[in-house]
Amino acid sequence: MRRVYLDNNATTALTPEVLEAILPYYRENFGNSSSIHWFGRECRKAVEDARDNVAALIGADPSEIVFTGGGSEADNMAIKGVAYQKMGKGRHIITTRIEHHAVLDTCKFLGKNGFEITYLPVDQYGLVDPQSLRDSIRDDTILVTIMHSNNEMGTLQPIEELASIAREKGIIFHTDAVQSMGKVDTDVNKLGVDLLTFSAHKLHGPKGVGGLYIRKKTKLTPLIHGGHQENGRRAGTENVAGIVGMGKAFELAAVDMEAKNDYIRGIRDNLEDAVVDTIPEVQVNGHPEKRLPNTTNISFKFVEGESLLINLDLRGVAISTGSACTSGSLEPSHVLQAMGIPHEVIHGSLRLSFSSMNTKEDVEYTMEVLPGIVEKVRAMSPLWEG
Ligand SMILES: *Cc1c(COP(=O)(O)O)cnc(C)c1O
Repeated sequence: MRRVYLDNNATTALTPEVLEAILPYYRENFGNSSSIHWFGRECRKAVEDARDNVAALIGADPSEIVFTGGGSEADNMAIKGVAYQKMGKGRHIITTRIEHHAVLDTCKFLGKNGFEITYLPVDQYGLVDPQSLRDSIRDDTILVTIMHSNNEMGTLQPIEELASIAREKGIIFHTDAVQSMGKVDTDVNKLGVDLLTFSAHKLHGPKGVGGLYIRKKTKLTPLIHGGHQENGRRAGTENVAGIVGMGKAFELAAVDMEAKNDYIRGIRDNLEDAVVDTIPEVQVNGHPEKRLPNTTNISFKFVEGESLLINLDLRGVAISTGSACTSGSLEPSHVLQAMGIPHEVIHGSLRLSFSSMNTKEDVEYTMEVLPGIVEKVRAMSPLWEG
């Protein structure tokens, strides 16, 4: 059966070049990057080359990059690291209602442990109003954490403006840029952020590796104690192969970034337009322009997203739904709820996310099967009278 993968915001396939770059570090170059002998030095050099590639993609200095075991760890490191470092000065943190769970649940945890959290609302497009940030800042605010782009519907936040509001008040600003890296400009100096989270596997790199950009002079209490790796900021023998893979993936992402994203946007728009033109009672969620080029989130009224997902999967098309991301729970998405979308509409929402590996034929095949599936599932719904 034909297989079409339209779930690239969940994870992406490794590029063949990335796999090739990784393999020697599972074979002959197996050293510990802290060792002084040849085996160690080979790995140290590979790790530092990868650090240069990652830094280049965001306009940072390599010394400002700390590698972690993925995006979730980097989010935890940023938020808990600032919280513990600054708790003597204040215990108030500002975030939004639409963050990834790695940010949201970390804030909830701190909220139960002596910190106070403000969750900023968003508008119908998923945008944060900079004025609401301004109004929420207090004398004891120590951190603002707002994602660069949202994984569910792709809305891009006005990070430059939001970060400058925090900066005026001397408050540390963190952004989770996991979904934005390689898809839109994430230059840390243009953005004016102090901390930025990235992850390899959303950009054709390996899983279980990512990191945090930490602007010079920003102090964080470490999350993981032990050895002196990563300048004492994150203990543990480096995941050399993973880091090498991430370095290669980010290096490749920087090549022809705009052309690749124009291509991806074209494919995404083709599918979105075809759905809107051929299937009645649908709505596209997220901001029409301020949006990642690879993401669309579409509500199909009068159906359950899960039924669509299962039927699409039977025909070889992989997507995800607007109900708490594949976790087996049917809680309607907190992101779509925050945008004021009614529960029954959220339950019929699908996220389709593309990468440069998708083709025009993927869209054509999806449009061969999707309209029939929606019709069939709707025919079984008591609410549908079409
Ligand atoms: C995937 C994702 C994460 C988590 O990254 P992992 O490397 O899977 O831990 C964090 N934030 C966003 C926005 C994501 O999409």
